[in-house]
Amino acid sequence: MALSRTQLSGRVDAGWDDLLDLLARKVALRSVSAEGIAGPNMRRSAQFVADELTKAGLPARVEQSTNPDGTPGAFEVVGEKHVADDAPTVLLYAHHDVQPVPDASQWKTDPWKLTTVGDRAFGRGSVDDGGGIAIHVGALTALGEDLPVNVKVFIEGEEEMGSESFIPFIQAHQKAFDADVIVVCDSGNWRPTTPSLTTSLRGAAECDVTVRVLGHPVHSGQYGGPILDANTSAALLIASLYNEHGSVDVPGLLSQPVVGGLQQDLDPDQLREDTSVVPGYEFAGEGSLASRLWVKPSLAVIGFDAHPVDGSFNVLADTARFRLSLRTAPSQDAGQALDVLADYLVANAPFGAQVSVEKIDAGTGWAMDPDSDVAADAEKALADGYGTAPINQGQGGSIPFIPELQKIFPKAKVLVTGPEDPVSAAHSPNESISLPGLKGGVLAEALLLQSLANK
Ligand SMILES: [Zn+2]
Repeated sequence: MALSRTQLSGRVDAGWDDLLDLLARKVALRSVSAEGIAGPNMRRSAQFVADELTKAGLPARVEQSTNPDGTPGAFEVVGEKHVADDAPTVLLYAHHDVQPVPDASQWKTDPWKLTTVGDRAFGRGSVDDGGGIAIHVGALTALGEDLPVNVKVFIEGEEEMGSESFIPFIQAHQKAFDADVIVVCDSGNWRPTTPSLTTSLRGAAECDVTVRVLGHPVHSGQYGGPILDANTSAALLIASLYNEHGSVDVPGLLSQPVVGGLQQDLDPDQLREDTSVVPGYEFAGEGSLASRLWVKPSLAVIGFDAHPVDGSFNVLADTARFRLSLRTAPSQDAGQALDVLADYLVANAPFGAQVSVEKIDAGTGWAMDPDSDVAADAEKALADGYGTAPINQGQGGSIPFIPELQKIFPKAKVLVTGPEDPVSAAHSPNESISLPGLKGGVLAEALLLQSLANK
């Protein structure tokens, strides 16, 4: 018999003080992976998480991964509880490493002491991803012996360092991690108490572009006019990537509809405040702000080699070089998008300048299957857990391991949830978690695990 929402909510309340205590002890461990993923504090952090999961009824242990170069890698937490052969299997993901604290004086509270102020608790790793660990442990504790699905856990030890050994580790344990549903609890909500599923992540790619117009610099007075200098030529080339509205306009760079449909667009005033865009700036592009940030391509020049202004003199520059960062629609193959971009740049060289492109890197994005039963279950669980209907959202950035995970387990339904919200300041000073948001997250995950049992 499934537990009612009231019963589960009562259990979450009963375990609440212990859960906050767990989060406080986790923050105090200072699990900064940037100080060395194989360091003793990371081992302690992993062991702590394994012990807490075991206490919650899911036997877990610590395994050290191997780096791609063969050296000892991160301390990973793995565990499993099997309840029935015919029950579905759910893999729960979070990470136990945290970002460093380069300057504690920027914090209003001790970053390594979980401190409650109002309805938020502050501390490094309180939300990213201590909140994810607390949600998994809290949900497993609430369900206890009534857990109706098989559960596996993977709590990673080097997410903040780029998950170098994540994929080899998963591949080596492919059978052990095989699951019908994967819950990645490392993302966030629309508002502290308005939950979200993260429905898509854009892909990312980079290339370096060199524009050459002359064999050597020449006098700008004597030759300026028929010959445009390399910097100007590069500027024209960059401008050719956009239409008159400021949308990226490169044939073959794709857009797609907001995954799962747009429930609510972003507030333009909030976006102005969050980004500090100058007064009077008109947002570039077309369509909803959400679509521009989540499901359309974007380009940024993130580096530019040219002569510095100080000490410049009257010559036409012979070459210019810049680095382009491309964000792709979630479902477009990022390598193919980079090929399309490179071909376009070469084909649109202004006035026959020589343009060469060096491709650096490409990682494809990810899109949830919004029509699956599992997505519907998750939305219902979030609505019941938080007491508010979810507003789902995409992410403009990337979480590279999610598409990788999906590639290794193509049949698994991946759900991306998490305790972050717009004021969490993950990775920044004064990181915090919403306590009502955390409680809603715990209840929602318990309800989700219960509803998946019927699949
Ligand atoms: Zn995280």
